[in-house]
Amino acid sequence: MCGIVGYVGPRDAVPVLLEGLHRLEYRGYDSAGIAVAGEELQVVKTAGRVGDLRRAVPEGTGGPVGIAHTRWATHGEPSDRNAHPHVDSGRRVAIVHNGVFENSDRLRNRLRAEGVELASDTDSEVLAHLVARSSADTLEDAVREALSRVEGTYGVIVMDVARPGELVAARRGSPVVLGVGEQEMLIASDVTALVRFTQQVIYLDDDEIATVTADGYRTSTMDARSTTRTPTAIDVPTAEYELGEHPDFMYKEMREQPDAVDRCLRGRLDHRFSSARLDGVGLTPQDYQRIRRVKLLGCGSAYYAGQVGAQLVEELARIPADAEPASEFRYRNPVVDPDTLYVAISQSGETLDTLAAVQELKRKGGHVIGVVNAVGSTIARECGHGIFLHAGPEVSVAATKSFTTMAVALAMLALDLGRVRDLSITEGRRVVTGLGELPHTIAQILAAENDIAEVARRYAGAEHMFFVGRVRGWPVAREGAQKLKEISYVHAEAYQASELKHGPLALINPDMPTVVLVPDDELLPKNVATIEEIKARGGPVIAITDADLPPGLATDVIRVPRAHDALSPITLSVPLQLFAYHLARSLGRDVDRPRNLAKSVTVE
Ligand code: GLU
Repeated sequence: MCGIVGYVGPRDAVPVLLEGLHRLEYRGYDSAGIAVAGEELQVVKTAGRVGDLRRAVPEGTGGPVGIAHTRWATHGEPSDRNAHPHVDSGRRVAIVHNGVFENSDRLRNRLRAEGVELASDTDSEVLAHLVARSSADTLEDAVREALSRVEGTYGVIVMDVARPGELVAARRGSPVVLGVGEQEMLIASDVTALVRFTQQVIYLDDDEIATVTADGYRTSTMDARSTTRTPTAIDVPTAEYELGEHPDFMYKEMREQPDAVDRCLRGRLDHRFSSARLDGVGLTPQDYQRIRRVKLLGCGSAYYAGQVGAQLVEELARIPADAEPASEFRYRNPVVDPDTLYVAISQSGETLDTLAAVQELKRKGGHVIGVVNAVGSTIARECGHGIFLHAGPEVSVAATKSFTTMAVALAMLALDLGRVRDLSITEGRRVVTGLGELPHTIAQILAAENDIAEVARRYAGAEHMFFVGRVRGWPVAREGAQKLKEISYVHAEAYQASELKHGPLALINPDMPTVVLVPDDELLPKNVATIEEIKARGGPVIAITDADLPPGLATDVIRVPRAHDALSPITLSVPLQLFAYHLARSLGRDVDRPRNLAKSVTVE
């Protein structure tokens, strides 16, 4: 969360920083600001979006070095004064910060006692004062010294007008990437902000600090041991970061799903042995044989994808498996078992809670692999092994293609595990065929968009909705409810269909529509009975199904093509994205930037 950008080089920093912020806006968008060092420090900050900041920057603001920030507030309301960059009292040092300084109250009190007047309510501001008050010889040492006094997480960039032409960046827990250009250097929270300017990047490690000038960079550890970092090339075409003719990124990313799934599957389906080839997992068949449990960890949609994955592992490999929010796992002192395969799932590869779970697991000797979209990300590097999604950049806050490809990647893992155990070559072949058909099936679902949009618009007046499913339909119901609430703000709750009669059925009435997931599997009669029970209480029902339902059973039916039973959670989740999207759009919501949220949750 929150985007930071820095620039030093021959151009005017302002347009480069604004362009970078615009690209990072999905990470936070409650306020934004920019600081440029010319003759003196020029700072412009405002509550609101990057567009508001662009309009607020006075003509003539400019200089060869600058830093910028788009915020997702953790400490202090979103306002002009709490927006970053923050400066010290002498207006010499400016900082931008992504993360949380957990001991900021103590540091603020101490600074106040020393006579410093604090200008904001944020945790971040203390860093500007601590750097300015350091007597270290270099900016890097001053930042090092200041950061040694803070507890918590950070990706920071620091600028000092008294030391022109250089920026210092450092990270712990929040991502920082250096962009290496021709006689210019950039710094950002992720490569999205850099691709317009350079393809050569360096991902800073945790507890690494960098000094950058127009001529280059130098990196070292927090305890001042120098590190050698060579740039790597970004392997994603720049066009993938562009909106093109699409109305918003969520729409673009939904439409990209057939290609994304195709890329995720490419070269990984083993037709000869009816299995999957997942070289990146780094486990031998003997290792696979030793696995007694699979535990999947993720947050939000990645957790629900993990739940889909757990069911696939149990169904195809008959290994006990379950999913848990990484945010809970990390804090409950988990019992780490050497015979369990742990799977950390994250689109950005920077989700702080998931990263912390990985670190806790590694510390306790657990074997953890990553299922991650962003190559070079912290979780991918920390795990060392795993499955990359190859879904391409996902910018919209609501997960779409990342959810689908996570489920596909986990289906391949389940298949691979199954094939070294009891899954027959014949059944394996059915799964391989089913996976291979997914891009086409998803394209067919997307082609029915207008029909789904029409249904969605009919329910735009609802204040509350239920999403229910059984077994395979249950994680899909959870993901569908989450998608609807996050982008439309309609209150949506997910339940196991079997649980309705144990309580929530009391809420069913003509104003409470229920989305029922109805896979064409052995539980079809049970789901039909659920629909009847809801209808008997006057509740409208939207059935999402790949089965032939009796005419008139549900109020509305969204029909998708039949997939392999085990893969139906993947196909059934796609219409729910379109449903949420069109319902939200008809309410006039900004689907890419839902209120209070941001993508890439790098704070707790
Ligand atoms: N904790 C800082 C603040 O509330 C930074 C939050 C962020 O990462 O955007 O200003």
